[in-house]
Amino acid sequence: MLHDGYEAIIGLECHAQLRTASKMFCACPVVNDAPPNSAVCPTCLAHPGTLPVLNDQAVKLGLRAALATGCTLHDTSVFARKHYFYPDLPKGYQISQFDRPLATGGAIHALGQRFGITRIHLEEDAGKMTHAEGGSTVDWNRAGVPLIEIVSEADMRSAEQAEAYLRTLHRVLVESGICTGDMEKGHFRCDANVSVHRPGEPWGTKVEVKNVNSFRFVAKAIRFEIERQVAVLHAGGTVDQETRTWAGKGTVTLRKKEGSADYRYFPDPDLGPLVLEAGEIEGQRATLPGLPMDRFLAQEDERRVTDWVENYGLSTYDVTVILGNPEAAAIFMDAVAAGGAPKAMANWVTSEVLRREDPGQISGAGLSAVQALVDAGTINRDGAKRVIEVIAAEGGDPAEIVSRLGLGQVSDERKLAEAVASVLAAHPAELAKYRAGNKGLFGFFMGKLMAATGRKAEPGLAQRLLRGALDGTPG
Ligand SMILES: [Zn+2]
Repeated sequence: MLHDGYEAIIGLECHAQLRTASKMFCACPVVNDAPPNSAVCPTCLAHPGTLPVLNDQAVKLGLRAALATGCTLHDTSVFARKHYFYPDLPKGYQISQFDRPLATGGAIHALGQRFGITRIHLEEDAGKMTHAEGGSTVDWNRAGVPLIEIVSEADMRSAEQAEAYLRTLHRVLVESGICTGDMEKGHFRCDANVSVHRPGEPWGTKVEVKNVNSFRFVAKAIRFEIERQVAVLHAGGTVDQETRTWAGKGTVTLRKKEGSADYRYFPDPDLGPLVLEAGEIEGQRATLPGLPMDRFLAQEDERRVTDWVENYGLSTYDVTVILGNPEAAAIFMDAVAAGGAPKAMANWVTSEVLRREDPGQISGAGLSAVQALVDAGTINRDGAKRVIEVIAAEGGDPAEIVSRLGLGQVSDERKLAEAVASVLAAHPAELAKYRAGNKGLFGFFMGKLMAATGRKAEPGLAQRLLRGALDGTPG
């Protein structure tokens, strides 16, 4: 795919938090919402005399990730200290893996293509800085939390491919029980390396876009970056090597690169090499499907298409749309499990759920409850859309939202008849035309009637009363 004569080259680096109870090298619990600096100890704060003790569960999950993505596991890998100075790093170095990573050479298949994985290595997370007016604070609860970093080959050529790779990788990690995948909490984060060049010429200068926390924003950020770089080159400029970040409407410079950083990596003398035992590898392999997880999931999807078309009466198109977005698929399955009629649930998912940037708080159970209110005649479709909007923004119980916002539909025949009469009285010219034979004006009157009732009229009753009044037949 060319952009104004240029081809984009994209590589992705993802950090996934491993689902362990404790940190990578100490017994501190892994916490999300604990008070700042409450889950720390002398080891993760690097007090003198402390020694790291490797968390077995983190190693197991790391090697599970390698197997799930078809990587080659290395019997021996080496933890290395990566030195840099920043307040989020109490030790002054991060324990990572450098020239001898846990695994190399896997792949993720998406959009019918193969996207290579260069390496997967284990490392610990850094703390979290919060910058505010008046100063910055640091929370070391996250310092030492176990991560894997998954580095892709620069195989992606478009934002769509990058998004598909990420969604698939995310799904592989979540469905294999390796990572919760919660992007809002930063359990799955992604940096994108983007450059552009003319085909046949050497690759361009690469720009790193840091820490984008949603699939759609990654795609937007990459699309923006490709256009920005092409525009710079078209104008005769050069692309600077820099780190940028997504800022809502575009990417902005975070820092310019001054040469390549020297992290002075060396093997961590306190840890020694990580040697995997055959039994451990086989143990993990035995609890995974017989083929890489992405292909296994693709086969599952094929089965689901057949199943949902045959048993739920959905169209192949709807199923493909739902399965194309794992979040939507999960919401749909939850909705059906909660008792929602599959066809109605699919309609909500493909319309109201998928058109949102972030489905946020919409749950399958919520959708099923909204539809139950429609079926019971409590709200009409417009009311249901309003309820879903509120749930997406702030959560809550559908029935409670209906009564709080007064969304219950008007099915009181007398009230509706009054509304019909006033609509007709307000449009004498149209009424005359209708009665002279222009029956197409029915829609016009229906629109006015719905507007007059705040879109809350029960549609069936409203139509019957309106037709009766227009045609002069008894309602
Ligand atoms: Zn600790």
